[in-house]
Amino acid sequence: MRTMTLQAPGEPLVEREVADPVATGPHEAVIDVLGCGVCHSDLHVADGHIGRTPIVLGHEVVGTDARLGPVMVYAPWGCRRPECLQCAAGDEMICADSHEAGIWDDGGYASKMLVPRREYLIPLDGLDPLEVAPLACGGLTAFRAVRRATSRFEPGRPARVLVIGAGGLGQYAVQFLARTPGAHVTVVDTLPARLAVARELGADVTLSPDELDGPPYDAVVDFVGAEPTLRSAVAFVRRGGAVVLVGMFGGTVPFGLGRLPSEAWLTTSIWGSPADLRAVLDLTRREPLRHVVEYLPLEEANRAHGLLRSGGSRGRVVLTVS
Ligand SMILES: [Zn+2]
Ligand SMILES: [Zn+2]
Repeated sequence: MRTMTLQAPGEPLVEREVADPVATGPHEAVIDVLGCGVCHSDLHVADGHIGRTPIVLGHEVVGTDARLGPVMVYAPWGCRRPECLQCAAGDEMICADSHEAGIWDDGGYASKMLVPRREYLIPLDGLDPLEVAPLACGGLTAFRAVRRATSRFEPGRPARVLVIGAGGLGQYAVQFLARTPGAHVTVVDTLPARLAVARELGADVTLSPDELDGPPYDAVVDFVGAEPTLRSAVAFVRRGGAVVLVGMFGGTVPFGLGRLPSEAWLTTSIWGSPADLRAVLDLTRREPLRHVVEYLPLEEANRAHGLLRSGGSRGRVVLTVS
């Protein structure tokens, strides 16, 4: 099979032909990859901040299974041991022993992929595989983050939500919030082109970071997670409000009485569960989401990374396997 392999952190990906993976038991599957979304986490692996090398990156994978047809791969694989609280609750992505495709195990920048359990193959049932590929991480992560941000809202009471970062995940979050009754959505980003997309997707207000001002928000979702954005998140949430941190750019804020709005809730939100992914795909079938996607062939994965690093893509890049 063809792969684009990361040999060592900091190096460009190289095209490598390797032996096809083989399923060793009835619970494993080998799929023919149709495409794979490129996520910011891929850059964190490429830079050596997370994961292992050598590795085949890619965790937003769609492919064809001989039995099920077109499928999406659920990629954060838990230990599934009965004594694991997180796995027992269905939250495999926060299992202490989770090993994510494309981060710890070989992923979807390849023409074939080994999936350790058939349950991780979610049938696409009519959805366009390449268009929806970013739902496997970007859409799923935004879905869970929005649900956690809005979970404590009183039904029917209008609520103001601030979304920090209008990249791929922020764009999905805006669409999920636009479907949340009572939610008034403000989006902040440094790039005007992304703010224009956010308005098209249903944002009520878009701002550059220096325009950000009160009154405080009921919930803030930070898809960047850098020092200045996380500080803004805490500065602009109301007392008793919620800050949900998703972005992995290493920002921190002090925690202590008087250091942040009283009784504000601060939480991280990581990826999503298998049930969340099924819910996202069901929602997409009922009320189609807009996927701001551009396509590049698998062999141009390095160019895709360059686009992501430079902010040169309006949304998500999906690598296609032909
Ligand atoms: Zn991702
Ligand atoms: Zn577990």
